[in-house]
Amino acid sequence: MQKITIAIDGYSSCGKSTLAKALAQKLGYNYIDTGAMYRAATLYALENKIIDENDNINIKALLKALPKIEVEFEVNPKTHNSDILLNGVDVERDIRTMKVSGLVSKVSAIKEVREKMVALQRLMGKKKAVVMDGRDIGTHVFPKAELKIFMIADPDVRAKRRQDEFSSKGQYFTIEEVEMSLLKRDMADISREESPLTQAEDAVILDNSELSREEQLEFVLKLIADLQFISREEQSHH
Ligand code: C5P
Repeated sequence: MQKITIAIDGYSSCGKSTLAKALAQKLGYNYIDTGAMYRAATLYALENKIIDENDNINIKALLKALPKIEVEFEVNPKTHNSDILLNGVDVERDIRTMKVSGLVSKVSAIKEVREKMVALQRLMGKKKAVVMDGRDIGTHVFPKAELKIFMIADPDVRAKRRQDEFSSKGQYFTIEEVEMSLLKRDMADISREESPLTQAEDAVILDNSELSREEQLEFVLKLIADLQFISREEQSHH
């Protein structure tokens, strides 16, 4: 089977990473969680007081620190997931807090931060056989990706999923708090200047409000099978 690039974009907590991981496992592809990269940069800024207690970002300090922010992925031998390392330290857990979630959109809106992360993402996906999820993968990082999925889901469903995810890690919030935080982040991601979140023209919409994980996986595997069929047809006509 021909190796392809799969771009999965969409709003916060639509289940992009769950689907992307399942797909990568099924296809033997690499999974790259680009949101984790922006979260890691945000964590670095918090830890190094580049973001103050009033949530103000010292942009100048952040730009100066950018070359010192090293992010990479490494397979965790216990979970077999690919964890994000920030300057060599596994921060997979530390980047998933409400604090980081509340600030990441501000950090990810900074042009220089995006340029650095996008360059890394393109390098990581150079050999194809990759499933990458984020906000601008199909529109900006890999505009020629063979398959683009744009995920959507009801805000209530998304908030419930995220609340469960938080509580499984011992972080407790009301559904209203979670939903407010999600919608605020979506708003910031849609309205920023640098590669805002938007659906690529050639993306397939996947509304997973009422679909099980298996149904979502099946839906995308069918799209991939169709793609392979089309490319074989094209070849036989040449
Ligand atoms: O996917 P996740 O919720 O972890 O993403 C966190 C944040 O990182 C998003 O809300 C967005 O601000 C930013 N992001 C981005 N571009 C991407 C992936 C994530 O701006 N490709």
